[in-house]
Amino acid sequence: MRAAPNEIIRNLRVQEKFNLTFNRQTTNTMKRFLSILAIAVAVCLTVSAKNAQNQELDQTQNQTQLTLVEQSNTQEISALDAALPVRGLAIAAPSRQGMDLFVKFIEEELAPARFNLLILRVDWNYEFQSHPELRDENPLTRADVKRLVEICKKHGIRIAPQINLLGHQSWAKTTHNLLREYPEFDETPHVKTENYTGWPNDDGLYCKSYCPLHPDMPRVVNALIDEITEVFETDLFHAGMDEVFYIADDNCPRCAGKDPAELFAGEVNRIRNHLALTGKRLMIWGDRLLDGSLTGLGAWEASMNNTARAVDMIAKDVFVCDWHYDRADLTAIYFAMKGLDVATCPWHRPEFAVRQMNDMIRWRQQTTPKTASHLRGIIETVWSGADQFLREYYGPEPEGKETSVAMTLKRLMEEYKKM
Ligand SMILES: [Zn+2]
Repeated sequence: MRAAPNEIIRNLRVQEKFNLTFNRQTTNTMKRFLSILAIAVAVCLTVSAKNAQNQELDQTQNQTQLTLVEQSNTQEISALDAALPVRGLAIAAPSRQGMDLFVKFIEEELAPARFNLLILRVDWNYEFQSHPELRDENPLTRADVKRLVEICKKHGIRIAPQINLLGHQSWAKTTHNLLREYPEFDETPHVKTENYTGWPNDDGLYCKSYCPLHPDMPRVVNALIDEITEVFETDLFHAGMDEVFYIADDNCPRCAGKDPAELFAGEVNRIRNHLALTGKRLMIWGDRLLDGSLTGLGAWEASMNNTARAVDMIAKDVFVCDWHYDRADLTAIYFAMKGLDVATCPWHRPEFAVRQMNDMIRWRQQTTPKTASHLRGIIETVWSGADQFLREYYGPEPEGKETSVAMTLKRLMEEYKKM
């Protein structure tokens, strides 16, 4: 990091400290409020409980800001926390066999580099008790998860477990566990994954989606969210929700003809409201909230299927993970100015990751305190399996390669250690 003037760092520290205090107070207020609300709802079961909850939650949606930096009120905010409150890594959860190395990686690499957030892509790699039919083979056990929880707690790293919701319900010819077990939730049952021929294809099949309006879906999905956040002892949940290509399908009896932006925002808010009932917070990838045509960002890292207007329909406390891998795009500012907390998410190019980090620091210094408070930091992403990535991480440095996820992560670690 280029040395910032002391005055700026001091101002950022004061601002961040204010945010922490404010967030903690409003979170406590909300918890008290929700306790009272829960009792009221229990008493008034004959009244439309669901509507009552949603109305009350809407009123509090600006007050449920949780902080991602764990500091006591009296503790001095470090220069790094002031510059980049969130230093995250988004990665798949390890296999059972890979647990020892993964724990070592947290302890010896992430913690000394002062990472404070781990988004763990668990999906079906957990021995779910609520829905055992959805487990992968040989999934992580409760004891495995508790090992991860303990090591992260020890080092002040918060965990946001991730289950891909809405989109990414298949990959190539493989239908993933949710639609395999509950095919009735499929938004496009007429599209057969076994016919997948690569991209592009006549079916427009990239990944399957579930139908956000299927009446039985929330019962299953909510149970998974409750169980995974309980076992990880966390108030953060990442629902993925990226690259949703199938939405408002013409053949879906529930969604045909509906506005894709409203359907997308509806599912975001449904999950958000479910989490908010127990004081938890939703994180999602940001691509469906960006207009791929207007920005030139295209159909993957932004939306070409009319979901982008959802950015103005989702609750303001949804945390947006804004991913861009091959340029240092400026879209985090867009989300911050919409009043949404955002982190920029690089992948495999060290030069862009550092540029994105420096942009984030600079924006936090030069925007209004209000906008700066939404610009939260950097979350590096890893898209190979965790075990495979760690082999790369601990393996020899590749020579002459410009793109490497391990190199990108190491570069960010160096930068954080300097601050
Ligand atoms: Zn549908």
